[in-house]
Amino acid sequence: MSKHIAVIGGGTMGRGIAYTAALAGFKVTLQDISEQATQNAREYIEGLLNKSEEKGFIEVGKTSEAIENLHYTTELKEAVSNTDLMIEAALEKMDLKIKIFQQADEWAPAHAILATNTSTMSPTEIAAATKRPEQCVAMHFFNPVHRMKLIEIIRGLDTSDETVETIKQVSEQMGKETVEVNEFPGFVTSRMNCLIGNEAMNMLMEGVASAEDIDKAIKLGLNHPMGPLELADLVGLDSRLRNMEYLYSQLGEKYRPAPILAKYVKAGRLGRKSGRGFYDYNK
Ligand code: NAD
Repeated sequence: MSKHIAVIGGGTMGRGIAYTAALAGFKVTLQDISEQATQNAREYIEGLLNKSEEKGFIEVGKTSEAIENLHYTTELKEAVSNTDLMIEAALEKMDLKIKIFQQADEWAPAHAILATNTSTMSPTEIAAATKRPEQCVAMHFFNPVHRMKLIEIIRGLDTSDETVETIKQVSEQMGKETVEVNEFPGFVTSRMNCLIGNEAMNMLMEGVASAEDIDKAIKLGLNHPMGPLELADLVGLDSRLRNMEYLYSQLGEKYRPAPILAKYVKAGRLGRKSGRGFYDYNK
C-alpha cells in the first residue's frame, strides 16, 4: 500500500500532482532543483486548496490536512529516501529523466515504484537506466491535474503486473480513471492531441482563420471543450515544442513542429505561464 509519494519537478504538472495526492491522503514530498519553483508550487497549492474549500469543492478541514501532508525540498535524495512511489514531472528531456531515475534508483527503498509523467517518451528507455525496470512505469496525468479525470498508464517492456496494479490503486485513491496503454511514442492522448494542435498552428500560420475562430470552430463544431490553441497555451508552448520534437524524431514528417510554435518559444511566448502565447493573458 503506497503511503508516501515523491513528486519530482514543481512546475505546471508537479504542483498539480502534489495537490491531488495530498488531498487524497498521501504524504507528499515535492522536490524541484529550483528553490523558487518549490516556493511558487507551495503558493499555488495552498491558494488552490483555500479557494476550493471556500467554494465548497472540498470538505471543510481538508485544506489543513492536505497542507500537513505536504513537504517541499530541493534535494532529490531527501524526497525519495522513504518513498513508496516517485512520480517524476521534470522537463520533457530524456537525458534529464534518465539521470533522475538513476539517482532515485540508488536512493529510494527497494520496494518503491519509479513512475514518469512523460507525455511522449519511452518508459522502457528510462527504466533501463535503473536496476528495477519491473518497478518502472509511465503515469501520465493531464492538465489541470485536479480537474482532469484520466491517468494513462503506460507499460514499459519489463513493467510488472504488480506495478500496474499499484498505479491503478493509487490513481483510484486520487479519484481518477485509468487506461492501460502499450508503449508507443506519444501513447494515445499525446499522439492525437499534438497532431490536432500542430494542424491548428499550421492553419494559423497559413492565414486560414484567426486563433479565436480556429478555437471556436473546434469547440462549437467538433464539440471539444477547449480549442487546440487555448489548450497549447495551457500546456506551455515550450513543453509542447519538446513533445513535438520527440514525436517528430520517432514518428516522422507528420509530427514536424509548426514553425510558428518554435518562433513563439524563441520569443519567450510560452502560453499562460509567461502571460502570452497564442493569446495575451495580460489584457
Ligand atoms: P514545467 O516546465 O512547468 O516544470 C518543470 C519543472 O521541472 C520546473 O519547475 C523545473 O525547475 C523542474 N526541474 C528541471 N530539472 C529538474 C531536476 N533535475 N530535478 C527536479 N526538478 C527539475 O513542465 P511541465 O509542463 O510541468 O512538464 C513536466 C513533465 O510533465 C514533462 O515531462 C511533460 O511532458 C509532462 N506533461 C506535461 C503536461 C502539460 O500540460 N504541461 C501534461 C502532461 C504531461
